[in-house]
Amino acid sequence: MGYIAEAKRLGFDRVQFTGGEPLLHPQIAGFVTSARRIFGDVGVTTNGTHLPRRSTELFDAGISRVHVSLQAESLELANADTWRVPADLVEAADWLSNHGVVVRFNLPIAIDALDKAQEFLFATRASAWRFNLFALLPTPFAPIQGHPDYLRHLSTIAREASDGWNAGKEPRVTIRGYVSPSGVRCPSCQQRSRCTEQSRSLRLGVDEILRPCLASREWDIHPKDGSLVERMRAATLLAIDW
Ligand code: SF4
Repeated sequence: MGYIAEAKRLGFDRVQFTGGEPLLHPQIAGFVTSARRIFGDVGVTTNGTHLPRRSTELFDAGISRVHVSLQAESLELANADTWRVPADLVEAADWLSNHGVVVRFNLPIAIDALDKAQEFLFATRASAWRFNLFALLPTPFAPIQGHPDYLRHLSTIAREASDGWNAGKEPRVTIRGYVSPSGVRCPSCQQRSRCTEQSRSLRLGVDEILRPCLASREWDIHPKDGSLVERMRAATLLAIDW
């Protein structure tokens, strides 16, 4: 927990356990409990497969948010024409929401799935769930994903699906689109041409490598690079682009 305590001292405001798949780890609940002794907001990002089995354990450990990353294929299993969250996941998500845990679904939305996404968000409006819609990145093979109408349509869907939502300050539906990297070190970064987003978080790997930029390994800080306090300070300054 040395890293997490140091993160608190440096001003971070929440901890999120990610993966791989964090719910495969037998001690994930213990990690959440330990992190909650330091941070008020502690979450996991999961593919949802083990959430029905582990949601009670996570709640008892003090989890405050669960982000479920789904693909369109997972939503199409029940019905090919309409997206549906699998029944056991609905039960777990509702149970957690009803117990005050923020449940958010992360959904990548392709340009040909905009109508299905709109229907899906309308059909789930009675739930307490939140959604983060991920715009797909343009590639040389699918440049259409970067078409301005795609992002505009996605924004409209998110805004309309959030209308009337009054649970807290965050909108019900948010978008993760493209953010042009504009940090002071970005012009000199070798990965600038491939980078589509300037991250404002700091990732700690199980190998204790600190990653201030998710788009690149160029700025990684390794255990040999100094003491924990020195490395956390350096990585934080990079992450916030000081
Ligand atoms: S990887 Fe980091 S430093 Fe490089 S362009 Fe992206 S945000 Fe900037």
